[in-house]
Amino acid sequence: MPLELNTTTKALRCDVCGGIIKTKPIVVKTCCNNKPWTFCSNRCYTTWMRDWLRKQEQARTKAKL
Ligand SMILES: [Zn+2]
Repeated sequence: MPLELNTTTKALRCDVCGGIIKTKPIVVKTCCNNKPWTFCSNRCYTTWMRDWLRKQEQARTKAKL
């Protein structure tokens, strides 16, 4: 029997807390990353965004030196 894959019900995992997303996920793509980031909630998205911005700022500071 072939395995049916339904993308709408496929379990997605949150990239921040690792929890399985049951509701509509928040999917984000960044310019320097081909893999989209998936978040279960706005809270996880904010947590990731803060971290991501810090990394961007660090990379910029390093490039200047
Ligand atoms: Zn999460």
